[in-house]
Amino acid sequence: MAVFACAGCGAVLTAPVSRVALPVHARRSYGHGLLPALMEPGTYAVDPEPSGPPWRGWSEIGAEEAAARGVFAPVRSLSFAAPGAIAVAPGDIREVALIPERCDGYCLGLDGRDGPNLACVHCGRAVATRIDDCSYWQAVWLAPGAVRRLPAGPDRPTVAWEALAEEWEDTPPVEPSGAWSPGWAAAVGTSLAHLVAASAGAPVAVPPGLPAEMFGPALDVLLPPGRPARRAVLAGPARPASGPAPDIALVPRQPQTGQVWQPPGTTTAVPLAADVWLHLTFPRARLPVPVTGGLPDGVLRDDPLPLHPWEPFRPDREAFLHTLARLPAVRQPWLREVYDRVRERPYGRPF
Ligand SMILES: [Zn+2]
Repeated sequence: MAVFACAGCGAVLTAPVSRVALPVHARRSYGHGLLPALMEPGTYAVDPEPSGPPWRGWSEIGAEEAAARGVFAPVRSLSFAAPGAIAVAPGDIREVALIPERCDGYCLGLDGRDGPNLACVHCGRAVATRIDDCSYWQAVWLAPGAVRRLPAGPDRPTVAWEALAEEWEDTPPVEPSGAWSPGWAAAVGTSLAHLVAASAGAPVAVPPGLPAEMFGPALDVLLPPGRPARRAVLAGPARPASGPAPDIALVPRQPQTGQVWQPPGTTTAVPLAADVWLHLTFPRARLPVPVTGGLPDGVLRDDPLPLHPWEPFRPDREAFLHTLARLPAVRQPWLREVYDRVRERPYGRPF
């Protein structure tokens, strides 16, 4: 484990935290409500990309400089701040105070538009950005360079692939409110970019059921019609692909290290957030009909009915575009055409 300390005065600014992979939805916004905390308590994640001001527009950057940054298709703007911001849960931060003149936000909270808005209470150094505005995952982002990482005991052991299903929680696709999970929208939007790239521009068959509901309508719109030329399956630890070797495998990304599970042979891996992969691969058993015999004494109600969102599932368009712009394959004309088409139609199907 580690704690993060102020680089100016050495004050410890966090509780002990263990590193996990950056959640795929970390930098995505969603809807117009308040979102929960991005990070689980006791964890931290590092964003390898720069974030926050200063921003530069695409016309100032150009294709060559963007490619050196790992961005291979036009984007509105890129951050030219230092890379490596560290996300922690708001409850894991210590010894900081808001900087009043930097507490701007769009709506009900802080969105960090002015740069770091939290200062070390001991030396006044700006050390972190609290984000809690509507549409954003609540987090404190420690500024790279303003904090130092100090060891604080052994890390949580890395979960072995074989133990993933037992030791890691899945996330259900539907929230208790009855709406589709925003985490799923971002995870599927991210994987959809990899899946479309892996299709090589040909129709792809995905497994029936929930995977088809998640990916099918988007693939129908983004890829040409016709008989599926490629087959995608769910594969991963404790879930070998059955039958002939598939062209594409939807595989888990290890939630602590970010490592992608590798399918055997020539199958192309499409990474999927582990919590989503777990739910798709090992769906929770649910009784299709009420059991007989009535309720036990003292129990006043049965389980609530299964949740059915009122609208079809929509992958996160920004997650799709963000990911696709960072795949070198997007330089191929057919894939660039898909990218441009989605980018130019903000409210088009299927997003
Ligand atoms: Zn300090």
